[in-house]
Formats: sequence, structure tokens, C-alpha cells
Amino acid sequence: MIIVIKPNTPRDQIDAVIKEVEKLGYDPRPIFGTNQTIIAAIGDERTHHTLISLTAGFPQIEQVMPVQKRYKLVSHESRTQPTVIDVDGIKVGGGSFAMMAGPCSVESEEQLLTTARSVKAAGATILRGGAYKPRTSPYEFQGLGKEGLRLLQLAKKETGLKIITEVLSEFDVEHVAAAADILQIGARNTQNFRLLIECAKTGKPILLKRGLSERVEEWLLAAEYILSHGNPNVMLCERGIRTFETYTRNTLDLSAVAIAKKESHLPVIVDPSQGCGRADLVQVLCRGAVAMGADGLLIEVHPNPAEALSDGQQQVDFNGFNELVKSLQPYLEIAARKA
Ligand code: PEP
Ligand code: MN
Repeated sequence: MIIVIKPNTPRDQIDAVIKEVEKLGYDPRPIFGTNQTIIAAIGDERTHHTLISLTAGFPQIEQVMPVQKRYKLVSHESRTQPTVIDVDGIKVGGGSFAMMAGPCSVESEEQLLTTARSVKAAGATILRGGAYKPRTSPYEFQGLGKEGLRLLQLAKKETGLKIITEVLSEFDVEHVAAAADILQIGARNTQNFRLLIECAKTGKPILLKRGLSERVEEWLLAAEYILSHGNPNVMLCERGIRTFETYTRNTLDLSAVAIAKKESHLPVIVDPSQGCGRADLVQVLCRGAVAMGADGLLIEVHPNPAEALSDGQQQVDFNGFNELVKSLQPYLEIAARKA
């Protein structure tokens, strides 16, 4: 960190700051100017409350400027190679592109199995489907719960697709982890730190959605919770943020994909379905995601979107998904990503 001392501070007061910096475990390197002195303090800034203790206790300090990122394990500083997550044999990241598709909610055996067969035939390797649904209204369909997990298992057994499904609460972690290959942490829970820790402990791959109004730094710090609790298998997922725009449900923030790829070694997945809330835009947003460097997509597919129990307006049907996957191939080739 850089500590800027107020102009014309007497030498003994500068020395007092240097001593304090040393006491806090840093190596102080003062640069004495004619009027003003700055001190470069070398050491790990993330383990101390230095900033607060220095600015509060030393009025001769004008400014303390941290130079390190607050996230440590998720950043490129700690790992230069991209993280490649092994989802029970399916690789995600480092050039391996993951196509995850399926209904917003698991609704019935027929709905799930026909969708699983169809998305598999189109090229998906991971089946999505919510058994526990975070709905804005308590009167809306809340998901089939354990029955939904059973159906996901059934679909896995028949098709071999890996399963991603949401964990809504700490109370559900154990049984959801028993049925899922990837735990999805939803946008409404992304800063539910106790939940993040409990999910981390399962050791399962985790897809961490970006919160409804979450800054990229907060999103990366949420991922840091999981990594710092011993689970390195995190995929970040951009799913759109709240903005003033009304033509879309959310604004898919493709710049956040580029930033997350730049800041972190973790794979980044894009969910264009929640991202825009409109089936007619999903295909073109997938192309944008690939161009931004995304490592995979999470797409909502339903046999009959008009009759879906949740998110009908943004789910594509089987033909739509087929066409989407086909049309995406040239973009994947340009981006050198293997599906
Ligand atoms: C979903 O994937 O269906 C979902 C509820 O996502 P999000 O948490 O991004 O809203
Ligand atoms: Mn949904």
C-alpha cells in the first residue's frame, strides 16, 4: 500500500508512522520529497485492518491507498493458468466449452426426460433444472423439491447428462449435493455467505451466479468465500443485472464477462435466459458471450414454453435450441473453444 503523508509534516511524526507500519508487519520504504513524503509499505494487505488503524490513529497521514486486490485466491495473482473444472469427466474451462441446458423448473417426469433427450441430441452435456425455485411471489410455483431431485437423477441415469441444480438454503445442501454434479447458487443468494461456506464444504463444483445488483468485485469476493473454504471448483455465472431498461428483464452485462476473465482464472459461464428474459434474444446473446470469452452457457429449454410453470417467456423450445447450438459452432471455432 502507499501511504501519503501531509505536506510539511515534521520528521518525528513521519518516523512514528514508519514505526507503526513496521509494527503491523510491513516493510516500510519511505520516499522523502521536499515538502511531502510517501511511504510504500510492502506486505500482504489483505490480512490486516491496516487501512483503518492508520487513517484513524495518525492525523499526519493524508491518504492510504491499497494496491492489492481484496480477493486473493480467485485472482490471477495466485494462479496464472485457467482453472479447469472436472465435472465427473466433463471439463469446463481452459478451452473446454460447457453447454448446459434444460428447463427453468423441473415440472414432471415427461417434461424433464423429453427435454433431457432433446438437449443431449443437440449437443448439451449438462442438464439444468430447478427443483427448489427462488420465486418472487410465495404464490408462484416453488419447485418439486425432493421429487424434482429424483427426476433429475432419473434423467441422468437415462441420458448420462451431468446435473446442475440450485441450492436455495443451507438446510438443503446435503440432499441437493447428493443428486447434483454442480451446485447452482442463485442470484438471490450469491452473498448468503453461510450458504456459500456450506456448499464449499461438499467439494462439489459450484456455479455462482452474479447477484441482481452485485458489483464484479463483490461477485469475485463471494467466490473467494468458496475458495478460501477449500473448494477451488467455482464457475462464475453472469446472468444479467438490474438496470433502468424495460425492454429486457435484466441487462446481460457482457463487459463483466470480459472483466471476470481478466481478473480471475475461474471459468465464466453466461446465462442469457435470465440475462434478458426473452427467448428471441437468447441466440444472439450466446454469440456475444462466446466472443467475450465465456467458457460455457446455461440455457433454459422447455418442450412448450407457453405452458412453463416458471420463466416461460425466456425459454426456447427444442427447435430453437437445436438451431442455437448449430448456429453457434462457427463462433466457437473462431474463439477456439471446444464444445
Ligand atoms: C434460474 O436459473 O432459473 C434462476 C432462478 O436463476 P437466477 O438465480 O440467476 O435468477
Ligand atoms: Mn429461470
